[in-house]
Amino acid sequence: MPIRPENRDRYPPDWPKISARVREEAGQRCEWCSVPNGEWIRRGTCDGLDVWSFSASAHCDVFCASTGDKLDGESHDTCDLGKPVRVVLTTAHLDHTPENCARDNLVALCQKCHNRYDAPMRRAGLAARRRAEMADGDLFEKD
Ligand SMILES: [Zn+2]
Repeated sequence: MPIRPENRDRYPPDWPKISARVREEAGQRCEWCSVPNGEWIRRGTCDGLDVWSFSASAHCDVFCASTGDKLDGESHDTCDLGKPVRVVLTTAHLDHTPENCARDNLVALCQKCHNRYDAPMRRAGLAARRRAEMADGDLFEKD
């Protein structure tokens, strides 16, 4: 996740090292949906189950997005898979507090899981910024 410029000072100077260590300890895989960092994959469903598969045609295996287990007998042909995306593994703060880099507050997540987890916080932040802008507007419009 890109760090918002106004939040940059909230991260410790060694954040890149901390983040790299978390991702390394997770085996360079998303800890929630098991997708491998840096690989091109396709996400989708198979019999109502969230799955992913390597997008390269050499790999036809399909994996469960909850357990990371390879599904027996499933392939690209039997699943509904979306367009290829490259996995970018990130490090998330479970309490959404960049200053809190305690190991049990950090988790390696792909961009999809990280976005989904942060979405309510981001919506709240957008609303707060919008309110702040409107308040500024009120100040300048009054005499
Ligand atoms: Zn994920």
